[in-house]
Amino acid sequence: MGRDWPVLSPRATIGILGGGQLGRMIALAAARYGLKTHVFAPDDTSPAFDVATRHTLAAYEDETALAAFAAAVDVVTYEFENVPAATAAFLEAHVPLRPGARALGTTQDRLVEKSFIAGLGIPTAPFEAVDELAGLDAALTVIGRPAVLKTRRFGYDGKGQALIGEATAPAVAWDAIGRAPAILEGFVPFSCEISVVAAHGLDGSFAAFDVCENTHRDHILDVTSVPARLSEATAGAAVAAAKRIADALDYVGVLAVELFVVTGKDGAAIMVNEIAPRVHNSGHWTIEGADTSQFEQHVRAICGWPLGSPRRLGAATMANLIGDDVKAWPTLIAEPGAHLHLYGKRHARPGRKMGHVTRIRPEHG
Ligand code: AMP
Repeated sequence: MGRDWPVLSPRATIGILGGGQLGRMIALAAARYGLKTHVFAPDDTSPAFDVATRHTLAAYEDETALAAFAAAVDVVTYEFENVPAATAAFLEAHVPLRPGARALGTTQDRLVEKSFIAGLGIPTAPFEAVDELAGLDAALTVIGRPAVLKTRRFGYDGKGQALIGEATAPAVAWDAIGRAPAILEGFVPFSCEISVVAAHGLDGSFAAFDVCENTHRDHILDVTSVPARLSEATAGAAVAAAKRIADALDYVGVLAVELFVVTGKDGAAIMVNEIAPRVHNSGHWTIEGADTSQFEQHVRAICGWPLGSPRRLGAATMANLIGDDVKAWPTLIAEPGAHLHLYGKRHARPGRKMGHVTRIRPEHG
């Protein structure tokens, strides 16, 4: 849809919905290209406010504030997938929204998302819709145990999820996720978790960064390592799945596709777990580790500019600084070659992403 709009000039203003660290790093990348940014978020401690040209502190439902925001920017993007549908529709009527409302609508609901992925012929975990406790019993007969019950909406970092083992009473899992409309997935005995961070340009061009291997701690991304330890065929299959998804969504911008790798006696196979219609934590290594960072790439795509080279510059490791991990900053900043990023958040609550550190090792020579 946004394809009817002209290419933006470097003096344009990018509107960003959401004020977290992803919005902050998009704003920093935009500034590098001379662009202005305007962040719209409801929280007055938003880390992106500190680096944006302008900001609006308002609720996503505030149409007066949204109208003023739309009039002040040349394109709108977002740093989180739970932008309310009404907000997206309101903005899209006034200004190009990139990625478009279709990407949001498909990825906000796990049932819609998994059905879309499976409909493209891409493998996923087996899944069934669950709307009530009786439906959970029925779904368990189809899927078997162990299984994972997830809310259809508003889940992230393992929130809104319950593992159903051999001995788990369905009612306990149903209560644990808040009795909300859900999806039951077969438990995938994965050998590793990977992600593809890639960009789709306004002209339909596609550029993927090298596949990332991700480890989690307490359901939150802990460390990303690139290159992932995969065969070329498996990495190629993951990138091909991401391209098929981006093409089918008529996507503009950076997206991340999270996958499981399952290793059986016939070798490795991939399954897509979820799509993030935005820049992604597992792509932070690209800031120092690739010719173009994921944030620059996103800005290029949404401005209608040519995509940059995604070439990797070395073996990269990105470690998140979660909660009190950030207390190590004086040591990290003194470490030669360690690229420290701090997000400017005041309180280091447990589970809160406070910063990250990236290390790049030359691979040859
Ligand atoms: P999600 O919120 O879907 O990204 O899930 C968070 C994490 O839970 C994933 O990164 C996996 O480690 C784990 N997980 C999610 N779904 C499954 C599944 N069907 N089988 C096994 N592990 C899962």
